[in-house]
Amino acid sequence: MTVMAQASSNRWQHYYTPATVEEAVEILQRYDGEARVVGGGTDLLVETRRGLHKPVSAMVDVTHIDGLGEIAVEDDYIVIGCGVTHSQIVRNPHIIEQGSCLAESCGVIGGPQVRNVGTLAGNVAHALPAGDGTIGLLALGGEIEVAGVDGARWMPLQESFKGPGKSFIDRYRQVLTRLRFRPTGPGEGSAHHRVMRPQGLCLPIISMGVRVALDADNVIGDARISMGPVGPVPHLAEPAMDVLIGKPATAGQYAKAAAVALQNVELRASKYRATREYREQMVRTFLPAILERAVERARQGLS
Ligand SMILES: Cc1cc2nc3c(=O)[nH]c(=O)nc-3n(C[C@H](O)[C@H](O)[C@H](O)COP(=O)(O)OP(=O)(O)OC[C@H]3O[C@@H](n4cnc5c(N)ncnc54)[C@H](O)[C@@H]3O)c2cc1C
Repeated sequence: MTVMAQASSNRWQHYYTPATVEEAVEILQRYDGEARVVGGGTDLLVETRRGLHKPVSAMVDVTHIDGLGEIAVEDDYIVIGCGVTHSQIVRNPHIIEQGSCLAESCGVIGGPQVRNVGTLAGNVAHALPAGDGTIGLLALGGEIEVAGVDGARWMPLQESFKGPGKSFIDRYRQVLTRLRFRPTGPGEGSAHHRVMRPQGLCLPIISMGVRVALDADNVIGDARISMGPVGPVPHLAEPAMDVLIGKPATAGQYAKAAAVALQNVELRASKYRATREYREQMVRTFLPAILERAVERARQGLS
């Protein structure tokens, strides 16, 4: 573990880089709410500088923990450590092939500098309604492992969200150690698309991810659709998923799913994002498009 003193005492005084999860949890416990977990720092350090967080005495950097800077294929899962950056995910052959929507969603985050240090764990723990990596992982049916004084446990990703920027992960006492999803197999595919204003404030207009399973008769056996920002937390569009399951994979069916997805969310107009009508049109346009892309990937696996 390295401890570095921060020159400016109006922020944290100590910066730890623990080598094990146990060590990280022990430091957090010792500081009793006065230390905070940091990943790549691309959100936290910017927000801390702007005075958006209560000052803490220490930062606990979890990107140097042994074994958690890697992507592994374990049992039935692709497992991503909390030190893994978006750039690592975008380049990983297993994720490109068997978790395409995660590679695509991490690939649109910021620019190369942000992707080279920002982590998927930080994106999830930040709990913004439209975190792109989060939307990608949610579509894949992702799970996260959270470690604290009582040990570590896996939970479905969607159960970690409490509100905008609010997570059930206590970022002063717990570490999101690993993330995982079941890779898409033969007859399965996934895809992601984000619409964003290219200039000015970089706020997403809509970010969407899908995962589908297709049988040999072109019938959709299973489907997941994630969206954001359409409410306080990243959204799983269950009624729209139900519209697809058991139905043929056709353009008409994708359009119905998009219509049902829109009936079940309240897309707000925002002067920084777009009008409600424009955002709805983006869902009508791009949700069917990514369903088609995911189905095409599924078909390739069947052939
Ligand atoms: C210029 C710029 C552009 C950006 N563009 C995008 C974009 O297009 N799409 C997008 O989704 N995001 C974007 N972001 C936001 C940010 O880069 C991502 O959300 C990134 O994934 C955050 O990861 P991080 O490792 O840097 O998290 P950090 O900033 O280190 O932490 C974020 C939050 O999560 C907590 N945390 C971090 N890691 C853990 C952990 N392992 N366990 C528990 N808590 C943890 C921290 O305490 C903090 O609350 C952008 C940021 C910048 C500066």
